[in-house]
Amino acid sequence: MATYIVLLGPPGVGKGTQAEILAEQTGLAHVSTGELFRENIKNKTELGVLAESFIHKGELVPDNLTIAMVKERLSCPDCGEGAILDGFPRTPVQAEAANAMLADLGAQLNAVPYIIVPEEVIIRRLSGRWTCREHGHIFHTLFNPPVKEGICDHDGSELYQRDDDKLETVKHRIQVYIDRTSPLVEYYRTNGLLTEIRGDQEIEQVTQELLDAIKS
Ligand code: ADP
Ligand code: ADP
Repeated sequence: MATYIVLLGPPGVGKGTQAEILAEQTGLAHVSTGELFRENIKNKTELGVLAESFIHKGELVPDNLTIAMVKERLSCPDCGEGAILDGFPRTPVQAEAANAMLADLGAQLNAVPYIIVPEEVIIRRLSGRWTCREHGHIFHTLFNPPVKEGICDHDGSELYQRDDDKLETVKHRIQVYIDRTSPLVEYYRTNGLLTEIRGDQEIEQVTQELLDAIKS
């Protein structure tokens, strides 16, 4: 049966970084809703136009748009073995929709690692985050620098700082996380799916904790 993992935690804890590594190591697809929205914005699709103003302000994109996008993504052939969901679900409505989507696929959620770091670390991480234009690969000026400044190690494309990573927007995104997403922690704890992961460690150590959590 296919395997589905949800990486839960506030912005900046390392979900995207870890999802990319886990996808490579497990063969599961990496499904990042933030990255899917950014691709749609780049390609000026109808969805991109609708999503852009919410993302720019650090608000969540409405549930119906987000759920439809994820549903379509999970039906792609590369998700056949399952997926690492990075940034979805982010609301209780999305969590219910995720259950329904996976049930339709004859599957269910297998694990929800919840990555935790202190808030000041989040701010430091997001203020130094650089993202690649082509595929959304993630770097940090101090903690995970690219070999060549401003260039993605993986595909040679330009690195840029996300417009929603500026300080005021980051602070708002953390508040949006607390208000709208953090209730999912108790929801998944009650379901018995949640495992707490210490995100304030070296990238490799976090990966190891995640792999242990997924295997058990
Ligand atoms: P999220 O997807 O949860 O928002 P990211 O994976 O984009 O988080 O990571 C946020 C920033 O922190 C990036 O610049 C990334 O390079 C950096 N980062 C990720 N994991 C670690 C870690 N374990 N230690 C230090 N920096 C990290
Ligand atoms: P981060 O890695 O910093 O947590 P993401 O790249 O996951 O940020 O998301 C960037 C933005 O895209 C969010 O602030 C939000 O506006 C939008 N977004 C991403 N995922 C969702 C979702 N599941 N529901 C609603 N909006 C989302």
